[in-house]
Amino acid sequence: KIVVNNIQKQFKDLPVVGGVSLEVKDGEFVAIVGPSGCGKSTLMKIIAGFEPPSEGEVRIDGAVRHGPSPKGIAISQHGSVFPWLTVQQNLMFGLTGDGHGDKAALADHYAEMVGLKGFENSYPHELSGGMLKRVEIARALVVKPEILYMDEPFSALDALMNLKMRNELLRILGEERHTVLLITHDVEEALFMADRVLVLSPRPTRIQAVFEVPHPHPRKLSNPELQQMKE
Ligand code: ATP
Ligand code: MG
Repeated sequence: KIVVNNIQKQFKDLPVVGGVSLEVKDGEFVAIVGPSGCGKSTLMKIIAGFEPPSEGEVRIDGAVRHGPSPKGIAISQHGSVFPWLTVQQNLMFGLTGDGHGDKAALADHYAEMVGLKGFENSYPHELSGGMLKRVEIARALVVKPEILYMDEPFSALDALMNLKMRNELLRILGEERHTVLLITHDVEEALFMADRVLVLSPRPTRIQAVFEVPHPHPRKLSNPELQQMKE
């Protein structure tokens, strides 16, 4: 469970986050939408532990957060694929220790899942922007994190790939039950994916409104139904 308690953040004299409190229960999918520049990425970096808040605290399962933890994986808005590694090597990067079986095969399975079959041995500079985004999504999912932090993961994708990745992610979440925090500027995407949508105000940002998404939610549908939606 993620508990965010009155987070504030300023950079020098610039107040960016003006006091945000929220809770995300285990297995819940919460989306955050808000105007460009309001502080969404900053808020996510604080919740994921990459940036300290100026005020307030973040608790993960009761413990105050002081930095990133292996429980959660973040997909950043600007991307962080390693340019010197192939797609397969990027996907294998987080598979440390035993218990993953054949790591290369697992990496290839996730590459295929995001539509990158045949590109396992390609390097990032040989891929398009949308393909890079998909490498990142696969790289986060392959380690099966308890918490998935995603900052505009679909923004570089075309309309068809956007829909495919949404459905693919919902299908995976139906099977694996991650806790998800999704940042997006796309309200429709937020309502389609999440159990709850938080709307942020302009900077310094606060929560302006909360929408519970009415059920039955696509993620709650059984897999065959989702499968049909895909086709
Ligand atoms: P977008 O929708 O365009 O991605 P955002 O809501 O994610 O925007 P942030 O990236 O959080 O917005 O930035 C919010 C504000 O904080 C901006 O005015 C930005 O200039 C400022 N900011 C973000 N990071 C830093 C930093 N490290 N140092 C100084 N200012 C920063
Ligand atoms: Mg942002």
